[in-house]
Amino acid sequence: MYKSKIILKRNPIYELCPSCQQKNSLHRSKAKNIKEDIIKKITFYKIYRCKECGWRGYKSSFGFSASSVKYILFYVVLLILVVIIVDKILSIIVK
Ligand SMILES: [Zn+2]
Repeated sequence: MYKSKIILKRNPIYELCPSCQQKNSLHRSKAKNIKEDIIKKITFYKIYRCKECGWRGYKSSFGFSASSVKYILFYVVLLILVVIIVDKILSIIVK
């Protein structure tokens, strides 16, 4: 049976630091102001800090796999087609 993973959960702690490319140097950082707190709560982005170089920034805890992009495109095209078809049907009925 074919199983697809549309969204991959990942943990940026195990990724390279974007600044110094050091492995396993990132750790979660607390939000310092309301803006950071809001971003942290409403998006998949969390704040991380690098123990080695002091880099601080946002990293997403979700990523898209290569096949998921194709699925998303497929569903977007499908949705557009459905909207066009429903619109045609409605215009015939309403007439
Ligand atoms: Zn670093």
